[in-house]
Amino acid sequence: MARTDIDVLIAGGGFTGLTLAIALRQALGAPFAVGVADPSLGASHAGDERASAVVAAGRRLFDTLDVWNGVADQAQPILDMVVTDSRLDDAIRPVFLTFAGEIETGEPFAHMIENHYLVDALEAKAREVGVELYSLAAADFSHPALEGQGRPPAGGRGWVNGEPPPTPPRSFYPQPSPSRGGSAQRIDVALANNETLSCRLLVAADGPQSSIRAKAGIATHGWTYRQSALVTTVGHERDHQGRAEEHFLPAGPFAILPLKGRRSSIVWTEAMREAERIVALPDDGFHAELERRFKLHLGEITVVGARRIHPLGFCVARSFIAERIALVGDAAHVIHPVAGQGLNMGLKDVAALAEAIVDAVRLGLDPGSPSVLERYQRWRRFDTMSMGLATDGINRLFSNRSDVLRLVRDIGLGLVERVPNLKRLFIREAAGLVGEVPKLLRGEAL
Ligand SMILES: Cc1cc2nc3c(=O)[nH]c(=O)nc-3n(C[C@H](O)[C@H](O)[C@H](O)COP(=O)(O)OP(=O)(O)OC[C@H]3O[C@@H](n4cnc5c(N)ncnc54)[C@H](O)[C@@H]3O)c2cc1C
Repeated sequence: MARTDIDVLIAGGGFTGLTLAIALRQALGAPFAVGVADPSLGASHAGDERASAVVAAGRRLFDTLDVWNGVADQAQPILDMVVTDSRLDDAIRPVFLTFAGEIETGEPFAHMIENHYLVDALEAKAREVGVELYSLAAADFSHPALEGQGRPPAGGRGWVNGEPPPTPPRSFYPQPSPSRGGSAQRIDVALANNETLSCRLLVAADGPQSSIRAKAGIATHGWTYRQSALVTTVGHERDHQGRAEEHFLPAGPFAILPLKGRRSSIVWTEAMREAERIVALPDDGFHAELERRFKLHLGEITVVGARRIHPLGFCVARSFIAERIALVGDAAHVIHPVAGQGLNMGLKDVAALAEAIVDAVRLGLDPGSPSVLERYQRWRRFDTMSMGLATDGINRLFSNRSDVLRLVRDIGLGLVERVPNLKRLFIREAAGLVGEVPKLLRGEAL
């Protein structure tokens, strides 16, 4: 028999799914039942070698949800950032842009944090505030309201990160209500063990290969960059002093991002084949390739983490909503990591959706009603397209060997560097504090 007392069920217990669950429980209390289903709940996340730049707005959100305290000791403030543009073997890398790192006194524009610390802290907080956690996949579903609309969707191919969802999901069915002219009042979601949960809103936070997005018939726009990001962690002799470096090289950006201790996270973009060649090199060969790009300004370097490869693509869902369904995070959009904004955009989705739901529920309205979902979509879709296309443009402008484009971009970077107001605007934009900023990202409770 279906459980019928869940208000919001979230498929996906990564950054965005868990953050949304915590925000809803904290704002609406125990009477509002929130569940998260994800086969990876309770498992170790140590295999994720990535670290994320969490911008100031994201830190404010985590602070407001009382999650930041649990990770603050592991978070390295970015105090300074330099951007260079050169050929791979140029002896000198001219610096075109620098950012001193504060947006307010004492508030860095971003912190670097290893992903596993943040996900573990979110999972612990979700348990503490009474989110119901199911370590099972949700929801392959047949959706009667969308039947016959030409599924599977065009463009919804699984190229982003190249892997299928972790466990074959089961099914869900919206429940029609005769009193409301047949529109669904709830959705029954079957978990992988056949248990059925009936909820008023199903949130797809199930990552780039979102099976819920596909089953809901939501198509995506997107393309592959034919580039991969090679990720690893490096230890070095000298302290990085909180400095982040982005070196634009012809194959793509090479980022050195400061971590706690004398360590840095490397996000190194190469053409796909070249990335596969490099990642498979023996240790000394890999070290030599790394050193050609990293150089020796921090002294001797040692690879201290695993090497991982992430194929890169761009993908935006054509709609962020369907009947009683909302998409958040990578299920809604995947962008190039060049500006470190993917997760931060997901946090903006979460903050906007949480605010729309909480406002409605406090007025006695249904959290899965079209007015809530449309408010969310209006708030997020345009902003997502602009950020997605901006990161796409930066990657295309820099990842090439053209001298003409090099001149154009260096004039552009030089201009930003010399006009203080423009630079301040860039920093606030990167920190997530420009535009219609949802309350949680301003550091205000819902
Ligand atoms: C190399 C690299 C570097 C990056 N650096 C940054 C950065 O510095 N800053 C930044 O802001 N962003 C960065 N990003 C982007 C960021 O990592 C993602 O945007 C973020 O992880 C998305 O979070 P999410 O919760 O939406 O999805 P995910 O983290 O992918 O979580 C999805 C979850 O859904 C679960 N799931 C899948 N299918 C199902 C199912 N059927 N049922 C239930 N659960 C399911 C999965 O197990 C997983 O736990 C980077 C990305 C890459 C590739």
